Amino acid sequence: MSRGDEFGRRLADLSDRMLKTRHSSLRNGLEEMDMQSIDKYRDIQAEATEWRRYLHQHPELDYRLENTARFVAEKLASFGINHIETGIAKTGIVAVVQGGRGEGPTIGLRADMDALPILEASNKPWSSTTAGQMHACGHDGHTAMLLGAAKYLAATRDFKGSIALIFQPAEEDGYGDRLGGQKMVEAGIMERYGISRVFGMHNFPGMDIGKFGICHGPIMAAQDDFEIIVKGKGGHASRPHDTIDPVVIAAQIIIGLQTLVSRQTNPVESLVISVTRFTGSNSNTVIPDRVGMAGTVRTLVPGLRDFAEKQIATTAQGIARIYGAEVDFDYQRYVPVTVNHPDETDSAIAAARRLVGPSSVDDKLRVRMGSEDFAYMLEARPGAFIFIGNGPTAGVHHPAYDFNDEAIPYGIGYWVNLVETELGS
Ligand SMILES: [Zn+2]
Ligand SMILES: [Zn+2]
Repeated sequence: MSRGDEFGRRLADLSDRMLKTRHSSLRNGLEEMDMQSIDKYRDIQAEATEWRRYLHQHPELDYRLENTARFVAEKLASFGINHIETGIAKTGIVAVVQGGRGEGPTIGLRADMDALPILEASNKPWSSTTAGQMHACGHDGHTAMLLGAAKYLAATRDFKGSIALIFQPAEEDGYGDRLGGQKMVEAGIMERYGISRVFGMHNFPGMDIGKFGICHGPIMAAQDDFEIIVKGKGGHASRPHDTIDPVVIAAQIIIGLQTLVSRQTNPVESLVISVTRFTGSNSNTVIPDRVGMAGTVRTLVPGLRDFAEKQIATTAQGIARIYGAEVDFDYQRYVPVTVNHPDETDSAIAAARRLVGPSSVDDKLRVRMGSEDFAYMLEARPGAFIFIGNGPTAGVHHPAYDFNDEAIPYGIGYWVNLVETELGS
């Protein structure tokens, strides 16, 4: 390479770099101009923080949310929303806000309202006043943020079509019944309100305040529960040859189940099988005639769910048969996979980025193996579920957990941006 060539290359490099710098500062400027300031949600933040702390002080469980539902319905009415249906799936609520810009589709925005049977240890001034119950999953915050968005959107109505605000009970536990998300869908809310798309949000401890996380496709796992009873022949522990020992057989079944994940499942797919309960004899000297075990299965694709149900049964029955024992098997499909739909996930990402900027929204969040009953709503309608940063708090379901009120303006801003983006002209 000649000196002239070298000089020419350096010059071209330099002008290329200058051009790129100018482009990127131009781009940042445009993004900043397009980005929403969260300052406009500060007034509502103060109010929503009071609502959140009131709800935190007065937790209620599963479907038994009489006080919580009354509080939510009263607030919605005070915003001038006059289309409010209460008592859906016992204590669920749907409220409709019509936009001020004419006809259009209806989108559903969902919050959950129930607390958990945990003794609170957050030591906050607004701690639970009911011993043994607390908002340990932040559903008080979810409710307050959706109420805040409702107040803002009912005042501005800068969208076409309508929004259906869905406040559901029993996300954590169905109190012996199915979960609230499923019951709300079964109560026909999607059809009755003509909801075409549905969106959900959950706080995420460990993710910074002002950040969001989401991914396309599965974002949370399916949860199934299984129970196996091994029926052998009991007897004296000193004479095992006279028995069909169900303890030894059950132990082999537990080991056998491990190979369903390690040897029979594609390593790039996710399957969790955990045996978590085991009950046998009450005596050291008695071989029981039956042993019970139970556990949980987590999956991300429907095919693996079918596989797990079939193969757990086949493995247990096959091993029991070798030793002359029998097996009773029960498999309950509990919560389906929470699957984000492509277009709605794009909308959620765009709304969050418009609020906090591109770098504060992780659109490739790794799937969580926990489960979420918003999955039922995503089976009924296309939509997306997003996580919002809760800062460095204790994890959800921990006695020291508390929803972070600093997340409130971001949650409200996300809902408002989503509505104005989805239902804009
Ligand atoms: Zn929870
Ligand atoms: Zn939760």
